[in-house]
Amino acid sequence: MEHLANAAHNQSSVISRIKDLVEKQLNLCVSCGTCRKSCTVLPRLRAEYATARGRLALVDAFIKGEISYSRRLREAFEQCTLCGFCTEACPNHVDPEGVLSISRALVIKPGIIEKGVSMLLSHRKGLNLTALAARLALMLLPFAEKWKKIPSFIPLVGGRIVPAVKMPPQELRQKTYQGYNPRGPRVLFFPGCFVDYAFHNQYLSALKALAWICSEIHTPRNLPCCGLPSLEMGDAGAAHRQASVISRTALELNVDAVVVICGSCGSMFRKVYPLLDPAFERFSQKVKDISELLIEHRNLLRGREKKWGRRIKVCYHHCCHLKRGMGVYSEPEELIQLNPEVEYEELDFPDRCCGFGGTMYVKYASLADEIVSDKVEDIVKHNPDYLALGCPGCLMHIQGALLSKGCTTRCIHPVELIA
Ligand code: SF4
Ligand code: SF4
Repeated sequence: MEHLANAAHNQSSVISRIKDLVEKQLNLCVSCGTCRKSCTVLPRLRAEYATARGRLALVDAFIKGEISYSRRLREAFEQCTLCGFCTEACPNHVDPEGVLSISRALVIKPGIIEKGVSMLLSHRKGLNLTALAARLALMLLPFAEKWKKIPSFIPLVGGRIVPAVKMPPQELRQKTYQGYNPRGPRVLFFPGCFVDYAFHNQYLSALKALAWICSEIHTPRNLPCCGLPSLEMGDAGAAHRQASVISRTALELNVDAVVVICGSCGSMFRKVYPLLDPAFERFSQKVKDISELLIEHRNLLRGREKKWGRRIKVCYHHCCHLKRGMGVYSEPEELIQLNPEVEYEELDFPDRCCGFGGTMYVKYASLADEIVSDKVEDIVKHNPDYLALGCPGCLMHIQGALLSKGCTTRCIHPVELIA
């Protein structure tokens, strides 16, 4: 009972903090509409509610009690990819993307399913259980395809690839790894759910590269999800609880940096945690994308780069959360070009949003697919051997779209080109 009371208190204090922040941002907005011009979804949805300005007006009306919870309101927020172009465009220094991200806690009322998923994501045992359930669901894919109304948290969407979910192998289950550089930083490496349970090649490459520059790499096996999915589903209390566990662990270990390999986890840590609670600021300041840390220590990478035995043509996709969320854009490109066998070519529109957007990919598949088609056209035109990108969600979405076009380009993380 006490636990439930604490959770309810926690949820209401997070909500009131979010409300204050949102109100401050709304006061800065002059409704000029500049943010409309670069919106990823506006050209597809062609409606004011689909713009940052429209959504800010909706949240304003919601806070003032002029509108209440509804399916349409929820859809308006879920159909935003959180690409951040509106924040980049706003001349008044409003951060619409940040507001739209945390406002989901106000305007979306999580149902039983969302609450259940959040609970699973909040504990390591729950994550393991989710991974096993996902694996089972994937085995049933041909059968399940017939059932279009399967709850949206199971990623069974027609014509798409989904990662082969599996438990991490034994070699990835250690709590600490010793690095080769005794004077190097001590870090906590946070792989994120996708890399932990599906993209093990990325995990192995990251550990290998980190070992070259670090003295110690901590990979605690008791951490929950970063909290982004819970926040997207409107469960701010769960997101805050997950943030508390991760932040406390990192601070207790007293590491020099918290290293991420997924731009979405990174953006959640660096940008959204302090919005949820200023107490997370100290943790957030320690967060680095792996490309940032590796480039800081680039001298230790020279001569150790992965040998491909041939020239490989590589393009890079700037994931929105990594570029506009974390502010990381030059380091991944530099990292890729450290490998002398790489022939780097820039896409025509390297930072165009792919349309993944988390909930968007699962619940609004046709909209997400429409958005990714422009990205695919750009990649097909350049036809690289590899498309490097720093977010597993975008990777899954773009790789699926490329495969369905018969394109042989393979998507990988920049660190896989090096280690
Ligand atoms: S968020 Fe910024 S760009 Fe958009 S309407 Fe408000 S002031 Fe204008
Ligand atoms: S985050 Fe992107 S999709 Fe959402 S309103 Fe802003 S520009 Fe549009």
